Amino acid sequence: MLELKKPKKPAKIAASTGGGMSQSPYRPKYVEKRPPCMDTCPNGTKVRDYIQLIAQSESYDRPVDDSLKQAFYMLTESNPLPSTTGRVCPHPCEDACNRKEKDTPVAINAIEMFVGDYGIKNNLQYKKLTEVKRKEKIAIIGSGPAGLSAAYHLALRGYGITIFEKFPETGGYLRYGIPRFRLPLDIIDAEVQRIKNLGVEIKTGVGIGTDITLDSLKSEYDAVFIAIGTHEPIKMKMKGADSPNVYTGIEFLQKAASGEIKDAGKEVVVIGSDSAMDAGMVAKRLGANVTFIYNKGTVNDASEIEEKGSTEVKEGHAEGIKFEFLFALDEIVTENGKAVAVKLKKMKLSEKDASGRVHPIIIEGGQELNLKLDTLIYSFGQKPDYKGLENLTKNPNNEFLKVDDNYLVAGEDKVFAGGDILRFGLVTDAIGMGRYAAYAIHKKFSGEQVINDERRVIKYGDAVNREGKNMYLAYFQPAERKKRTSRDPKERVKDFEGILNDLNFDELVSEVKRCMSCGLCFDCGSCFEYCSQSAVKKLPKGQHFEFHLETCNGCKKCAESCPCGYIDML
Ligand SMILES: Cc1cc2nc3c(=O)[nH]c(=O)nc-3n(C[C@H](O)[C@H](O)[C@H](O)COP(=O)(O)OP(=O)(O)OC[C@H]3O[C@@H](n4cnc5c(N)ncnc54)[C@H](O)[C@@H]3O)c2cc1C
Ligand code: SF4
Ligand code: SF4
Ligand code: SF4
Repeated sequence: MLELKKPKKPAKIAASTGGGMSQSPYRPKYVEKRPPCMDTCPNGTKVRDYIQLIAQSESYDRPVDDSLKQAFYMLTESNPLPSTTGRVCPHPCEDACNRKEKDTPVAINAIEMFVGDYGIKNNLQYKKLTEVKRKEKIAIIGSGPAGLSAAYHLALRGYGITIFEKFPETGGYLRYGIPRFRLPLDIIDAEVQRIKNLGVEIKTGVGIGTDITLDSLKSEYDAVFIAIGTHEPIKMKMKGADSPNVYTGIEFLQKAASGEIKDAGKEVVVIGSDSAMDAGMVAKRLGANVTFIYNKGTVNDASEIEEKGSTEVKEGHAEGIKFEFLFALDEIVTENGKAVAVKLKKMKLSEKDASGRVHPIIIEGGQELNLKLDTLIYSFGQKPDYKGLENLTKNPNNEFLKVDDNYLVAGEDKVFAGGDILRFGLVTDAIGMGRYAAYAIHKKFSGEQVINDERRVIKYGDAVNREGKNMYLAYFQPAERKKRTSRDPKERVKDFEGILNDLNFDELVSEVKRCMSCGLCFDCGSCFEYCSQSAVKKLPKGQHFEFHLETCNGCKKCAESCPCGYIDML
């Protein structure tokens, strides 16, 4: 079944009587819900389900090794790059995790990294969903996460896939943007190879629109999926910005990754926000003193970094990068055609505008800052590069591609698109769009319908039980979150090796047990034990429990005692 997530309005649930003793006209029903971790993952990863597979190893007498294998295959039902996202995803799923209402969220991203790495270490390969080879051939333009994800989901379903990639190697920004200390090359290579092993052909060094026309792909293939990302850096117009030692963040990262830049000099100034910090951390590893000009408005003082900073900002700060907050670039000073300094003017945050936002504005006559430099790096973002593909959009200079609900490009009948070319996002957004576009392409050729996930999202606090909530959190013991550690900042700036340490096995086992299985029975037996009317019957292991409502008097004790909110009173 092809499954898409779609939230549904909460069903009407009976209000609690509080005591659980009185009768009521309501009757209990076991209703599976969608957990918030899955709901907020842009790729709809079945977080609860694969974590519970590991957590329940003992109660199912299953060796943890078998559970880890099953968890790997469940996780990769939606995400073919789990070791990648397990390292780089800023994990919006954790922000929504119900466990934070008890103590702290489950460390979902660290578990994802462990399970993804387990798949690599144990050479687990993907299994096609069918042995039937479909006659339709699909061309994919771009081998970033969106293209790889679409290729994977289509190859699983028997399609012949060719990816065209203009860079010499695969991965898009995974390889040519995100630095190696965040995402090591062997991880990218292993995850791409596993997709290739499904029979996906990847032609690198081939630009569509420049080496081959889109029209020729359209005539040769049954469908085309465009996943070209945004690869044209937005450049400054300021005098001096075209000096050879002034780079956009992406230019600097790519030149450093390819070895073209081996030395950035002694003093490097970086202007931008989080992805610019990646460039700053690379410059630091090349031996420079780095000063970071940060104007995002979320962190305005070094004392706020730990509380409000992004992962990148915290890591850069820990590595000794110097911060200057709220300064605007006023002038690039050049000598003999090279940038040698920048002049900056102090800014302050404006009053809130009508939409409640604040903006940095220059303080006239305020503080000035002059910084000498050997290299200047700035990052003001990227935009799509439509070279040779201009016909796809009315405004190729400045526009994302427009698609309908099926990811079909406006005005086209066999050209689909997804990933950053539709809107800037995260790796997991691109993987999700590649997946859903692949489902739409499959639907076009097979007729297989995409089913919306109609399950209600279970968010702690919505309805009833003896805490007056819909989950009974007192059931769970407080348990410390197992944090993934990072290498010592003083050591890690000396090389480009990965920053993050994987959880160890014991930490993994302890962490998965913190998951509360929101919205799905985990056989705790409370409903069975609390029912004084014998209305709850045990089923064979794995099939949970069943209500026999002829003896039920509507006392609600089962619903009030259910820790995970699997029982509704309707
Ligand atoms: C510096 C940096 C750091 C980032 N850090 C993170 C992070 O920590 N976490 C996170 O979740 N996200 C991060 N992102 C964002 C993330 O990398 C992107 O959202 C994601 O890679 C988008 O995937 P995509 O497949 O749409 O495009 P891309 O990854 O950009 O891949 C597009 C591919 O298409 C190819 N292509 C383009 N035009 C053509 C053509 N005409 N013919 C053939 N091939 C073509 C390109 O060469 C490229 O390989 C970062 C981005 C950058 C730039
Ligand atoms: S991809 Fe990101 S949001 Fe989705 S489950 Fe993994 S860490 Fe969470
Ligand atoms: S406790 Fe488990 S199921 Fe519930 S939101 Fe967190 S990870 Fe998901
Ligand atoms: S109370 Fe326990 S056994 Fe009963 S439905 Fe909830 S989780 Fe399952």
